[in-house]
Amino acid sequence: MMSATPPVLFVGAGPGDPELITVKGLKALQAADVVIYAGSLVNKALLAELKIGAAAHDSAPLTLEAVIELIRQAAAEGKQVVRLHTGDPCLYGAIQEQMEALDALGIGYGVIPGVTAAFAAAASLGQELTLPEVSQTLVLTRIAGRTPVPEREALRRLAANGGTLCLYLSVGMMEQVVAELLAGGAFTARTPAAVVYRASWPDQRTVEGTLADIAGKVAAAGIGRQALILVGEVLAARRQGVPERSKLYDPGFAHGFREKS
Ligand code: SAH
Repeated sequence: MMSATPPVLFVGAGPGDPELITVKGLKALQAADVVIYAGSLVNKALLAELKIGAAAHDSAPLTLEAVIELIRQAAAEGKQVVRLHTGDPCLYGAIQEQMEALDALGIGYGVIPGVTAAFAAAASLGQELTLPEVSQTLVLTRIAGRTPVPEREALRRLAANGGTLCLYLSVGMMEQVVAELLAGGAFTARTPAAVVYRASWPDQRTVEGTLADIAGKVAAAGIGRQALILVGEVLAARRQGVPERSKLYDPGFAHGFREKS
């Protein structure tokens, strides 16, 4: 039996393309009485899914307190609330503080995941982020901005292992990003980098280069926000081919679902 829907659902809207919300997220949106959406990045086309009479509030001009008050009122009236966040709500979504406030009010909630920008960016490039012998690790992070980053996970330290890096909220500081990445010691001026602006939106743009030229190319393209930075040797595979094919589909490699051929 399905358990009852909690009064509040945090829903991942996906990266932009309104068809990249999950089926579960879309159903929640269609059933909602009140929707509070992050207007800066959530595609407003999704609001066309709301039922007649449902209320939609842009959270961009609101404080945490104002958002919680909207939710509290709606829940008190027995209304179903959807808090719509861009990408996946659990990454840079500021949902923990909302969940904590709802806990204090005794209001139940659930989280429906979404397609995060990193995966929309990789999809738009046609790029796998983990390749055998190249990198089997993906780090999702950001450079310190107005929101600080703990020193132990400073970009230069994360870059020191040479795995694939995916940077959110950082494209406005490209020069510092590149300096930090190079300071890690594993990447060089020849390490490939890509910047994807508004992945999955109609005005999506992609800039590709190396750590030597990516900052200049991004500046020339006039991209200063709403973009994701991908860095790592995996990005070379589209030009140079894959150095080592995956064991998963290798005829000489047996696994639980396939015998050796
Ligand atoms: N929760 C979101 C991230 C919110 S932080 C997610 O999971 O995707 C906002 C940052 O995400 C932006 O500064 C940008 O770096 C990135 N971002 C969000 N949508 C994007 C998109 N469509 N294309 C590229 N980057 C995007």
